[in-house]
Amino acid sequence: MNTQDIMDLDKKFVMQTYGRQPLALSHGKGAEVWDVEGKSYLDCFAGVAVNNVGHAHPKVALAICHQAQRMIHCSNVYYTQEQVELAKLLTQVSPHDRVFFANSGAEANEGAIKLARKYTGKGEIISTDNSFHGRTLATVTATGQDKYKEPFKPLPGGFKHVPYGDIQAMVEAITEDTAAIILEPIQGEGGVIVPPEGYLQNVRNICRQRDILLILDEIQTGFGRTGEMFASNLFGVEPDITTIAKAMGGGYPIGAILANERIASAFEPGDHGSTFGGNPLGCAAAKAAIEVILDENLVHQSQELGAYLKANLEQMASKYEIVKEVRGKGLMIGIELTKSCGDVVTEAREQGVLVNCTADTVVRLLPPLIITKEQLDVVVKVLDAALAKMSTNPKPLSDL
Ligand SMILES: *Cc1c(COP(=O)(O)O)cnc(C)c1O
Repeated sequence: MNTQDIMDLDKKFVMQTYGRQPLALSHGKGAEVWDVEGKSYLDCFAGVAVNNVGHAHPKVALAICHQAQRMIHCSNVYYTQEQVELAKLLTQVSPHDRVFFANSGAEANEGAIKLARKYTGKGEIISTDNSFHGRTLATVTATGQDKYKEPFKPLPGGFKHVPYGDIQAMVEAITEDTAAIILEPIQGEGGVIVPPEGYLQNVRNICRQRDILLILDEIQTGFGRTGEMFASNLFGVEPDITTIAKAMGGGYPIGAILANERIASAFEPGDHGSTFGGNPLGCAAAKAAIEVILDENLVHQSQELGAYLKANLEQMASKYEIVKEVRGKGLMIGIELTKSCGDVVTEAREQGVLVNCTADTVVRLLPPLIITKEQLDVVVKVLDAALAKMSTNPKPLSDL
């Protein structure tokens, strides 16, 4: 099938919920992907921060292959070695000592909300404007963007929103019934928003004083994306609960709630569950993906390459008035424009680089952590050309 055949069948048979690019991908290797016409692209989207170890990593592919031949699934009615091994590994790389396995980010957040309510015996969850926590009814309610939830009312109760980065608003929103605050350590979908200095530490302290749980949604920021294994390390903050998914399985759908023993023990047998959560295939994939991140030193790589990319983007962007800011941490970078960034995405794609536009004006770069400097140089060159094409008034050379 060619691209058009696939697009026609999608239009006919698939629910039309996605604003897709006119591109049908067939396979990938490392940071490169190929479409069904045979054209190659540098993938700076990485399946929304999922393919941190790149496409078709041999160790992940082999782990999935071996496990599929032994056992794909058996249900949580039984124990498996794959699940306990992954749980142990997650406690070694994260600030937590207990794990509940889910299948997606939304499900991890949904479970974290249940855990916070059960542990505290309270109902209210505070989240922030512009946040993204998932598409299930509870997580879309926690999400601070009206466009995602308006059509789906009535929404579950017990959720409030305050501006991200505003500690005073957070303090004022807290009541006797507040169970937890849920935050992205860096907002992803909302436009790669890094919180102001001291914000997360202040929220952490207030949670401690008021006996409220701090849930960090590290679904996008986790597994080396920001130049630390988890972004909580970047800010020196210890959450009570962390939710993870996206890059966890190297592309295989798996997520988890991480918590410390004291809080985790609020979940008793029968309180929560999932048919597929933590099945042997998912756990084997995730264990392999996390081992690759550790063995190949990808967290450090993300920090180094992120600094390199950001510096080059800043230098490149200084030529264009339409660029407001280049920001982010590690290999999670946003280029905010003064106008909608759809044209940059299209132009870059046509020149062989995949990027994403989020929050309408932010070009978001989330390349695999295994991308090379040479590949990043190509990315900057292509974005430079795309911005030049779209700029009506580049700054005169004398201003540079
Ligand atoms: C992607 C994302 C989610 C939702 O994850 P799904 O696997 O799509 O359910 C939740 N929170 C954040 C911060 C995300 O980036």
